[in-house]
Amino acid sequence: MAFLDKLKKGLSKTKNAIFGQIDEVLKAFVKVDEDLLDELEELLIVSDVGVSATEDIMERLREDVKEGRLKEKDQVIDALKNILGDMIGEGEPLDLSTTPAVILVIGVNGAGKTTSIGKISNRLISDGKKVVVAAADTFRAAAIDQLAVWCERSGADLVRQNEGSDPAAVVFDAIAYAKRKQADVLIIDTAGRLHNKVNLMNELAKINRVIERELPDAARENLLVLDATTGQNAILQAKEFRHAANITGLILNKLDGTAKGGIVISIKKELEIPVKFIGVGEKIDDMQEFDSEEFVKALFE
Ligand code: GDP
Ligand code: GDP
Ligand code: MG
Repeated sequence: MAFLDKLKKGLSKTKNAIFGQIDEVLKAFVKVDEDLLDELEELLIVSDVGVSATEDIMERLREDVKEGRLKEKDQVIDALKNILGDMIGEGEPLDLSTTPAVILVIGVNGAGKTTSIGKISNRLISDGKKVVVAAADTFRAAAIDQLAVWCERSGADLVRQNEGSDPAAVVFDAIAYAKRKQADVLIIDTAGRLHNKVNLMNELAKINRVIERELPDAARENLLVLDATTGQNAILQAKEFRHAANITGLILNKLDGTAKGGIVISIKKELEIPVKFIGVGEKIDDMQEFDSEEFVKALFE
């Protein structure tokens, strides 16, 4: 299945819950007036677009009406598409400009870090890159084994130590290995025990020191993995993790399981961190670089 079709299928719950209902709202009105705009506003607010982003959208819609660009009901969808496209902005590609480049993957347990690493490795390897993965979530043996399965699927080399070993030591080994093998990309899996914030921050800081010392000039991505089904809670998580790492991009997972896809708009507005990948399923090819145009298209078509 082409990714746009996967995306449409993945976003179908969001679409039915919000954007599909816009049609119903439009049917109930004869012309574009304040009442119609009020109904739209309500729909957006309940859809995890967020209050603040909804205000921005409504302001722009009202401006379109005032300036005579939006007169007829059948122009509402296109106006919304334009506004959402503008607000979400262009997708930003990964910076992989050095050999190796380093991608550190962080996020709470269950957000989909390990799965995302499998999917991203697979894409990079399909593009002809050599990928090394570091099993720096050493908290549970099962986490290391799960990562090993994904590395087998994708063809990435895994650097691992035993359960309970120092994550920074795993990263050290993985960097040495990546240098020796002249790998293009090193991807680091981490533990996500946010309930102990101080430990987590110390662990990430220590990993960071090792990377900076061993690969001072490497292109770096610190990707925060968020579970879209948690809605606005994901935004709070991102604000927490900002204290622990300089986040360069987001991976938004599980868009297939939720009607809360409007969260993408809210994320852009409240965090100003680019969404770099979205996940719409559990399989290896259920992830793609985020493309705002395709995303908006999938929401309405
Ligand atoms: P981690 O604890 O952050 O490493 O999370 P995992 O990668 O182990 O994923 C936790 C669960 O979420 C697993 O059961 C995954 O299959 C599932 N998962 C991850 N990404 C997606 C997604 O995009 N869609 C769906 N439906 N499930 C996902
Ligand atoms: P810090 O003061 O704890 O940040 O210590 P360092 O920055 O010197 O090293 C951080 C971590 O990297 C250490 O705790 C080790 O686990 C790991 N490390 C440093 N050097 C080596 C090494 O030569 N081999 C291995 N396997 N790990 C190392
Ligand atoms: Mg994991």
